[in-house]
Amino acid sequence: MENTEETFAGQVLGFTIPSRNARGRLVRLDRVLDEILAAHSYPPAITHLLAEALVIASLIGGLLDKESGQVTMQAQTEGGVVRLLVCDYREGELRGYVDFDAERLAELGANPPLSALFGKGYLAITFDMTDGDGRYQGVVPLEGESLSDACEAYFTQSEQVPTLIRVAVRSGNAGTTAAGILVQHMPDGEEGRERLHARLDHPEWEHVAVMAGSIRHDELLDPALSLEGIVWRLFHEESEVRVNPGAHINRGCRCSEDHYRQILSRFPEDEREAMRGEDGKIHVDCAFCSRLFPIAV
Ligand SMILES: [Zn+2]
Repeated sequence: MENTEETFAGQVLGFTIPSRNARGRLVRLDRVLDEILAAHSYPPAITHLLAEALVIASLIGGLLDKESGQVTMQAQTEGGVVRLLVCDYREGELRGYVDFDAERLAELGANPPLSALFGKGYLAITFDMTDGDGRYQGVVPLEGESLSDACEAYFTQSEQVPTLIRVAVRSGNAGTTAAGILVQHMPDGEEGRERLHARLDHPEWEHVAVMAGSIRHDELLDPALSLEGIVWRLFHEESEVRVNPGAHINRGCRCSEDHYRQILSRFPEDEREAMRGEDGKIHVDCAFCSRLFPIAV
């Protein structure tokens, strides 16, 4: 081995279990997570929340057929400590940020549950397809113990696809690492067929869900255990399991000076004048990557 530093690949691994009509995705993020988090200085609870969201966005993004299209997750509240969480995935590019009330967060202690962070909240997941399939969005209440729970509810309620999601996050001196697995039951084939209701008690799905749900957090995060190794550990008793490597995950932001200039040009001149700094420019910073843009407009 040339490289003594253990690192996760930051690549989605897809797998299917044909005899169970099941498909899944696995991903681990370390460096890309630290790159995204480095643009902010979030307290531990927010770091943990965003890391979980970014793993889920990678898993869901990894479901897109052709690595084209975009998945956006947006968690929003009325009067919650976390006002807004946004992350999106497009062609392997990942970004995200959290807008929160720091004073109220400090009062919640070290490991606040999802309900304490969001209060009455909603999770919207939007798919923008670039190949002409359009755009669709589903919204579910932010309920359960974690964002993963809320996303499972999204797929089950909004898309009628039984889904299991497990995410593990670890933060330490060496940075933040996170990993997750998503498994779905697709009894009518891979995509698209309308279903009247989701059968959560289907025996072939029950079995897959029990096996996938047996994964432990330390296994998800163990650099000595490859993603293929996890699939093997969980499903080696199945007659056939296919794996196929998916997209590499990178930090990506699509902010640009042009983008902000266009937005600002739509404001009335008196409002723009009020926004200008001493140098005559309007200073905008990107919420996702914290890059600062001085805009002359
Ligand atoms: Zn940006």
